[in-house]
Amino acid sequence: MDRRKEQVLNWIEENRDEVVEFLRKLIQTPSVNPYFDHEPGEAKEGRVQQVVKEHMEALGAQVEMWEPDVEALSKYEGYPGYSSDFDAADRPNLVATVKGAGTGKGKSLVLMGHIDTVARGTGWTHDPFGGEVKDGNIYGRGAVDMKGGIAAMIMAVDAVVKSGISLDGDVSVATVVAEENPGIGTLAYVEKGYRPDACIMTEATSLQVAPLCRGVIWGKLTIEGRSGHIELPRQDWREGGAVDAIKKARMFLEHFDSMNEEWTITKTHPLLRVPCQIYVGKVEMGEFISTYANKAVIYFDATYLPRERDEKGGGSLVMKEIEDMIKGVCQTDPWLMEHPPVLEWQINADCGETDVRHPFVQTIQNNLTELGREPVVEGCYFHTDMGWVEKAGIPIINFGPGDPRQAHSNDEMCPVEELIEATKTMALTILDWCQASEG
Ligand SMILES: [Zn+2]
Repeated sequence: MDRRKEQVLNWIEENRDEVVEFLRKLIQTPSVNPYFDHEPGEAKEGRVQQVVKEHMEALGAQVEMWEPDVEALSKYEGYPGYSSDFDAADRPNLVATVKGAGTGKGKSLVLMGHIDTVARGTGWTHDPFGGEVKDGNIYGRGAVDMKGGIAAMIMAVDAVVKSGISLDGDVSVATVVAEENPGIGTLAYVEKGYRPDACIMTEATSLQVAPLCRGVIWGKLTIEGRSGHIELPRQDWREGGAVDAIKKARMFLEHFDSMNEEWTITKTHPLLRVPCQIYVGKVEMGEFISTYANKAVIYFDATYLPRERDEKGGGSLVMKEIEDMIKGVCQTDPWLMEHPPVLEWQINADCGETDVRHPFVQTIQNNLTELGREPVVEGCYFHTDMGWVEKAGIPIINFGPGDPRQAHSNDEMCPVEELIEATKTMALTILDWCQASEG
């Protein structure tokens, strides 16, 4: 192994505690996205961004911090990530750059993550903001989603700088706000004009290399019925008789199932073990035991592939597919023809994909191999912020410590070992991609 690589790996080994401490500090500085329920003092990203800023400045990085300008971004109305309701106060994005010598030998790299988390939630047996370390795991809200990744990426830069290695290309860390909702932080980063030669989004992937993530759509379908006493003889609905919304809902549920079956054939991708699906997660139906249900509401989650994106990068084509299915069901039922259900879209999260053959995807795999780990390349099943970065022409992969299934759960935790491995992998990748400069 290259001497500089050994130097950096030694630094990380000798400073394992510092890596862990930094993650603990990030967890101990809550940054709950204000969209979620939160206790006083837990919300907004401003405070934790200050922690990152101080850390990066101490490394000699140039730090830029700015609150996304909703006005200036309004041209992205209707695009994924944009929301006119976004209140940017005390929610700054941060980009910290360690400048390289810039002879052109090395390329530039950004290590990126969202600094907001979901709410603390319930059912914890550890303090959600304690950063407790137990049996080799670090516990707390954001431990994997995604302060673990952020700690690893920052400590990777730390390791390079503190090992006394100067780079040729620039390496920067970007901690963006508001990924959990609405996704405007990454949009604001791209809009600011940053165009590094590659990006690692350090979302938790259990150290898999994920050059793809899926888009997500949430829908709410409200079906109208008409109430009436169940035990009495029922009149025809045209004469004012009751209409059972539960029965009508069943028709749609059946069609959700058949659409899902169809998707198992049509919506597969070589980097994904399972096809995309449309799945009902919640239903609300009826009022009383003895009354025909006057209303049924079906909530569903649908995932889609980058190849299905519309011209704005969103999921409107998939939405249209679902709308057509619903219209088709209505055509088979006179009541539904006259009383079509109301479909509302609640989330339209975008997706992205980088060609697996891109040299950057190869670089990180080589480094995993050098560290004695079999590289696994597989897409993310959940949404990440990679869409805007990819659309800006920046090759991007997701790669980070921790099991993504831990995200948003109680007792969220990141294994220390994975945190260290992620730090090492990224440090080596910085050296390869940005090139250590001579002398
Ligand atoms: Zn995340």
